[in-house]
This record gives sequence, C-alpha cells and structure tokens, in this order.
Amino acid sequence: MKIKPNEISALIKAQIKEYEHELQLDDVGTVMSVGDGIALIYGLDKAMLGELILFPHDVYGMVQNLEPDNVGAVLLGNDKLIKEGDTVKRTGRVLEVPVGDELIGRVVNAIGLPIDGLGEIKTTKTRPIERIAPGVMKREPVNQPLQTGIIAIDSMIPIGRGQRELIIGDRQTGKTAIAIDTIINQKEENVLCIYVAIGQKQSSVANIVERLKDAGALSYTTIVSATASELAPLQMVAPFAGAAMAEEWLEQGKDVLIVYDDLSKHAVAYRTLSLLLRRSPGREAYPGDIFYLHSRLLERACKLNKDNGGGSITALPIIETQAGDRSAYIPTNVISITDGQIFLQADLFNAGQRPAIDSGQSVSRVGGKAQIQAMRKVAGSLKIDLANYRELQSFAQFGSDLDASTRKTLEHGQILMEVLKQPQYKPYEVEQQVYYLFVAQNDYLVNLALNEIHEKLLEGYNNLKVSNAGLVKELKKTKTLSDKNIEALHKHCKDFYK
Ligand code: ATP
Ligand code: MG
Repeated sequence: MKIKPNEISALIKAQIKEYEHELQLDDVGTVMSVGDGIALIYGLDKAMLGELILFPHDVYGMVQNLEPDNVGAVLLGNDKLIKEGDTVKRTGRVLEVPVGDELIGRVVNAIGLPIDGLGEIKTTKTRPIERIAPGVMKREPVNQPLQTGIIAIDSMIPIGRGQRELIIGDRQTGKTAIAIDTIINQKEENVLCIYVAIGQKQSSVANIVERLKDAGALSYTTIVSATASELAPLQMVAPFAGAAMAEEWLEQGKDVLIVYDDLSKHAVAYRTLSLLLRRSPGREAYPGDIFYLHSRLLERACKLNKDNGGGSITALPIIETQAGDRSAYIPTNVISITDGQIFLQADLFNAGQRPAIDSGQSVSRVGGKAQIQAMRKVAGSLKIDLANYRELQSFAQFGSDLDASTRKTLEHGQILMEVLKQPQYKPYEVEQQVYYLFVAQNDYLVNLALNEIHEKLLEGYNNLKVSNAGLVKELKKTKTLSDKNIEALHKHCKDFYK
C-alpha cells in the first residue's frame, strides 16, 4: 500500500484537531446542579482533588469529589450567582491564602480576604491551605513553656510551645475565655497568635476582636473568621487557612499560637458538605474521613529543631460537648489526636469556680517537660492535694465529726480552689503565680476568710515587689527558686500573713 504525502498531512491535521477537542473536554465542564454551596459538574475529566475551579462571576470552587461521570465541588463564593448549564474551568492550582506579616492585626475570612473594613491587605506571598506536616526528623520535643497566664493551667496542666492542647467542655463553660486570655498573655512573650472562629455568631467574633483590641493584643494577632452565616465550605476551609498562615511564620523560626474555636462546629460543617456531596455517612452521620480531616490539621502543630529554624506552632483546638459527654464521636477523636486536654465542667462553672477546670480530668502529656523549675517546685503536689480534697468533699457533706487531718485536707483544698479562681482578661505573670502557690502551699492563708484571700495575696505580692524587688527580678530572669529565695519568701510570708 502506498501512502501519499498529502493524505498524511490531512491525517495529522485531523489528529491535532481531535486532540484540541480532547483538551477542551478535560479543562471545561458544565454545571449539572447547584445549591447549598455545592455544585455537581459534568466534564472536567482531568480535575484533581482539591483543585481550584472557576465558575462565572469570578466565583471559585474546590473539587471535593471525583466520580466516574461527574465532579463534585464546593463553592467558595456566592452560590446564588451560579446556575445550571454554566461553564466551569479548571485552574490547575490548589486553594491558596495570603500569608505574611501584613496579616497581623487584621480580621480575614476563610480565604484570607479582609473583612474588617481596614482596606486591602498587601501581601506578596500565598501558601496552599493544605500541606504535609513536618516529619519526625525535623522536629524536637517541646522544651519551652507557653505561659497561658492562667494559674490553674500553668501550674497543673503546663503547655509547651509546639504542643496541641484541647480545651473541651459544655457550652458556656468558659472555653473561649481560656483561649482569649492565653492570647492576651502572649504580649511580651514574642508569640504571634491566630484565632480561627468557626461557625460562631458574627457578634461574638466582633466582641472578641474588640476585647483583643482593648487588651492591646491585636498588634500580634490575626483573626480568621468563618461565621455561622457563611457557607459550610468556608467554615471547613477556615482552620486550614489559619494553619497555612501559621506555617509561614513557623518557617521563619517564629513561635505561633493558633486557636481553633471550635472544631465541633467545623465537624458539623464538614458533615453538611459531605452529605450534600452524597458521601456515605458513618458514625453519628459524620463522613468516614472526619478523623483524618482533624488529624492532618492538628499534626501541623509542631516544634521544629534548630536545623529547621526552631520555630513552633502551638495549637489550642476547642471542642464543645453535650452534657459533659466526652465519649461522643468527635470529642474522642480530637482527644486522641491532641497531647492532652483541659476539661471544663459546667457544675464547677455554675458553682462559681472560674475558670471551671476539672483538675482530675485534665492532663498535659508533654508540657511538663517545659515547665519552669520555680513552678514545678511550688505546684508539685497541687494536683494530688486537690484530688484528696475532692475525695473527702463528698464524705464531708454528711459530715458530723471530722478528725483533724481530714479537716485540714478539706480546708487546704478550699483555699487552693479559691487561689485557682481567676477573673477573665487578667492573666498573671508567672512570678505572681509562683508567689500565690508558694503562699497557699505553705499554709500562710489558713487564718484568712476565703473571700479575703485574693485581695491579701495581691497586696502581699505588691508588697514583695517593693520590699524585695531583687527576688522577683531574679525569679523572672532565672525562672528558678533558689534555696536562698525560698528562705526569703518564708520570711516575707511570716511578716505579712501573721
Ligand atoms: P460557647 O459554648 O458559647 O462558645 P464558651 O464555653 O466559649 O461558650 P465563654 O464564652 O468563654 O464560654 O464564657 C461563657 C461566659 O462565662 C461568658 O459570659 C464569660 O464572660 C464568662 N466567663 C468565662 N470565664 C470566666 C472567668 N474566669 N471569670 C468570670 N467569668 C467568666
Ligand atoms: Mg466559645
């Protein structure tokens, strides 16, 4: 058979035409259905998971489902603008958010656009919202404390930089308060903070921003907000956007604190969009990969070793329980992902014990290594003392005659519980905490009425700062209590609390 040259060229031309046609099919699709922030698209054969796609009116979407005959995507903009039959284009990129110092002091939405009315954020850099967390070889154990300024936490549940510590409790038990106080306390600690609000009321977020501003904490804090009124996809993306912003600073060797408030609502948002995407529901109707979603988010908290800049991301995820039930699906998941939890109890909260930290149920599995020596010295037996107190407390309710040692344990417990009370927005510096616990643990408060304790302690601390400024300064600098200083403290207490 003989092939003529002009036939070959015709064949090649036809092939090229065909090829272009194929390309078109890969990169363009048609909306089959849209609603609730979800679009099903025909075409887009080569779309990748997590890829950004462009709808008309500059609305972006993110590919979440790859089915044999269609693609499911979540919309990151107004879904009202999109209708059936609209054309969708691939972008070949994944979702990225702006990162950098320009974000400090700003309030942004889940894709990093400003929502505080302070104008454009002129960043020069973006980062993908999803990234594989640094591996084991790049990390080192936590070795530096992250002071929350809350005496009950810094003494019994110490948190280290790079740790993931869960704040868990029923609604209205002071979960957010702990996170906000911790942010406020980072003022002189050289830690950049990111507060991610997920599924909250707009008014609550505005209130938090106001509080941070009042406390002077906005100068080192970024707020990422996806409120309840926003689409589920944006709520789902928000914590990942926050993590991407944190990683930028991490890689510059800085210390970052990130709060996810809260992951229960995040899980609900993910469940909503999964069900809308017709993924099969699992336990409590959550999709099967909800654990993976939270674990790959929290795994990004880390302490890098010196060779990798030595930066850290400390994560404080928050989980809301129903009637104190920590064995529900999402609470157990996140408990198992984190390095400990701060458990807040509604009963304690209602009894006026605020912050309502249940010291028996709360743990920090790694932070103890980073706790300062002075604190370890004064707080060593605190948890046990409180446990003894709780145990005897129930007895004492029937109590008639109590023997002397039981009475002493109970009284001591009451004093400790009183000392651990702390108002909101008033973080204590660590020297003050050490002082309070020293005085309480050495029984200098026994002759005071419970409601006098705080006033007296503050007075005593201010007195010490004047009468023995050197001691306080040394404590601040060395973070240790030398024998000499312990003696000096005893002397001060004997004079002051006699
Ligand atoms: P939600 O479930 O609504 O998110 P939450 O658990 O985050 O609630 P917060 O909003 O932090 O709880 O606090 C609930 C209420 O308790 C608020 O009015 C707050 O001012 C008050 N509160 C929290 N901590 C303290 C504290 N240490 N001292 C006094 N009041 C406090
Ligand atoms: Mg809250």
